[in-house]
Amino acid sequence: MNYIGTRGFTGPKTFAGALLDGLAPDGGLYVPAVYPVPDFDLNAAAAGPYADLTEKLLNLFGVDVLGAAAVRTAAERTSAAFLRDGQTPLTQLEDNLWLLELYHGPTLAFKDMAMQMIAALTDAALAQTGEHLTLVTATSGDTGAAAVRAFAGSTRVRLVVFHPLGRVSPVQRLQMTTVEADNVLNIGVEGDFDDCQRIVKTLLGDESLKARGLISSVNSINWGRLLGQVPYYLAASAASGADRPNFVVPTGNFGDAFAGWAGRKIGGNIGHLHAAVNRNDALSQALNDGKYIRRQAVESASVSMDVQAPSNFERLIFEASGRSAAGTRGFFETFAARGEVRLSGELQSACLKEVTASTISEAETSATIQHAWKTWNKVICPHTAVGVAAALKRKGSGPHIALATAHPAKFPDFVAGALGFQPDVPDAIARLQGMKETITAIPNDQAEALKAVTAFTA
Ligand SMILES: *Cc1c(COP(=O)(O)O)cnc(C)c1O
Repeated sequence: MNYIGTRGFTGPKTFAGALLDGLAPDGGLYVPAVYPVPDFDLNAAAAGPYADLTEKLLNLFGVDVLGAAAVRTAAERTSAAFLRDGQTPLTQLEDNLWLLELYHGPTLAFKDMAMQMIAALTDAALAQTGEHLTLVTATSGDTGAAAVRAFAGSTRVRLVVFHPLGRVSPVQRLQMTTVEADNVLNIGVEGDFDDCQRIVKTLLGDESLKARGLISSVNSINWGRLLGQVPYYLAASAASGADRPNFVVPTGNFGDAFAGWAGRKIGGNIGHLHAAVNRNDALSQALNDGKYIRRQAVESASVSMDVQAPSNFERLIFEASGRSAAGTRGFFETFAARGEVRLSGELQSACLKEVTASTISEAETSATIQHAWKTWNKVICPHTAVGVAAALKRKGSGPHIALATAHPAKFPDFVAGALGFQPDVPDAIARLQGMKETITAIPNDQAEALKAVTAFTA
């Protein structure tokens, strides 16, 4: 079980190599050389303990190169972040509609599951080679928090997280900055999220840092992150008892939705996949109108989905074009050069066979938070509301599972604006108030960023 790139790299790489690289050498994304066929009863495993299901899936996707003990540890860590009181956190809201709560991990967002898993696997991969790794990442909030909590204390990984100073929610900031670990550096940039991303991109290509050892990132281009999200589709499907339930996924970088696609590809009991986006709707326009256009991202209530060039769209284009590396390369090179690319009618309908998408407005998001409270007594976050809004429109066609991606208390202002009261604050958040925070503040300046990272990794 090996990995190739979407733009022509036929390497191949083992899972360990793909995990540590992040991006493939061809500038594309890693994908399995062939999607594996389970040699066990997938749907029976999906109904069993979550850690066991995850362990089987990891082995199926070639993670066994890291050894059985590493696979088991990773599976247990992701399982601990998934379960709510030991149970699959699936609730039936009404006929044909379920909610899968993916926010019972340490930072109360679904990114914990994959991040907890890849932290364990990265340590194991580095232990095999005896290397150390510097991870640099930009965050608008959730990714950074989940990464800090997952990698804190690792002896082989140093993690540097760049966030826009004063522009992440107080809860997200506290989840990052109250962690006391020698291997974690939180840098606050006097700028916005795009400035942080630009800084990180430049650092990843910096020769002086590369000369000092492995350097990579933990964003959702990494196949390891995607893999950590496959098991919950299968577990939720089994827990619902439905025949081929459809999934509605609140979508930003399209990593989560593509994980569902992979789960179906290997034979999971999964029906249709639908990506719900906020007003940053390049993905839904591409699929519905056949034109993929680069636009500036704008701020929405579902901030973690404010993405206009979803990186995992490349994996879909690769698959929908019959795994054409030349076609995929051409598509994304045109997009990069012209800021716009047209999908042929054939490519567009091939994409729509795999996944559909729709756009949910800010007003619908707010109205859905109100609807969820009035109808089901449930307080949901704005990201979750985007998915639930789309699911409510679609559920007439059969069973639908909507993914709840973050705890509402992470985004209290918008939720309170919709409901007129603040969401309950769980202990995991309450105990952060007043704790000591450590942030290195820097101006929006590449040289200052390099200086801080160099000093930290010395
Ligand atoms: C990251 C995130 C998403 C979007 O997930 P993608 O894999 O980027 O599509 C949705 N909801 C929340 C709360 C997130 O943090």
